Amino acid sequence: MTDQTADAPRIARTRHALRRRSLTVAASEKLTPHMIRLTLQGADLHDFTSTAPDDHMKLILQGDGDSPQMRDYTPRRFSASELVVDVVDHPGGPAADWARDAAVGDSITIGGPRGSQRIEGDIAHWLLIGDETALPAIGRWIEELPDGARVTSIVGVPDATDEQTLDTAADWQAHWLHRPLKQATDPAPYLAALDAMTVPPRTFVWVAAEAQVARAIRTHLLDNGHDKQWIKASGYWVAGQADASDKAIGD
Ligand SMILES: Cc1cc2nc3c(=O)[nH]c(=O)nc-3n(C[C@H](O)[C@H](O)[C@H](O)COP(=O)(O)OP(=O)(O)OC[C@H]3O[C@@H](n4cnc5c(N)ncnc54)[C@H](O)[C@@H]3O)c2cc1C
Repeated sequence: MTDQTADAPRIARTRHALRRRSLTVAASEKLTPHMIRLTLQGADLHDFTSTAPDDHMKLILQGDGDSPQMRDYTPRRFSASELVVDVVDHPGGPAADWARDAAVGDSITIGGPRGSQRIEGDIAHWLLIGDETALPAIGRWIEELPDGARVTSIVGVPDATDEQTLDTAADWQAHWLHRPLKQATDPAPYLAALDAMTVPPRTFVWVAAEAQVARAIRTHLLDNGHDKQWIKASGYWVAGQADASDKAIGD
């Protein structure tokens, strides 16, 4: 791997007006065996914005208890009238349970995104690494990259039926890693995939996965000489803990 301390990329932060929006489920489909795609609609979307592919918003779930449950999800695609969310179908979580049962006409409130972080700089190659929960951001990222951009993805999914096809103008190399959802906490397949590739100079690496996995991938990159300013790593969920994440893994 390469050392690339000069001209590190910068993160351009934008704040958005924080508001809640009341939406309705307009469509629900099983995109792949472990991914539920929900299309949400509502007049409240007229001023919805999301300017970075790894933005997140809250799904606000009104359960039986007094206080609602909130979980983070990526705006996979949006317009002034429609918002697409891809939800991993995993056992034992209120957000996944809600998505599995969601029917056309159901109501849902969302909050945010409260801000966006765009990575800017002289980036020759993007390396996007993650598990199923990162796939909405990775998919959006790859689709939004322009002609001439180079991007490699390393994504862990249960098997080939959970792989996704993406439309992109960019030069995209996909590496799909197959392992059961129960092994989503094992970093070994990602580290082996990294060891098998040459990371070109001026590669920005974005990582999102279960927190221990994301941390192990970041450490492995650092141990192999990748500069920390060229890495952004997040724990999108924490094994064994509800409503948990580590959005900015650092030293
Ligand atoms: C910035 C950001 C963006 C995200 N975007 C998306 C997205 O677009 N789509 C998406 O599906 N997820 C996304 N996630 C991850 C999602 O927020 C978590 O998976 C969340 O915990 C799911 O809530 P839940 O109510 O289903 O489960 P919780 O109630 O939070 O957790 C219940 C149990 O399930 C476990 N668990 C949580 N997630 C998983 C999983 N994926 N696989 C296996 N076990 C799990 C927990 O460890 C816990 O033991 C994102 C997270 C962040 C921080």
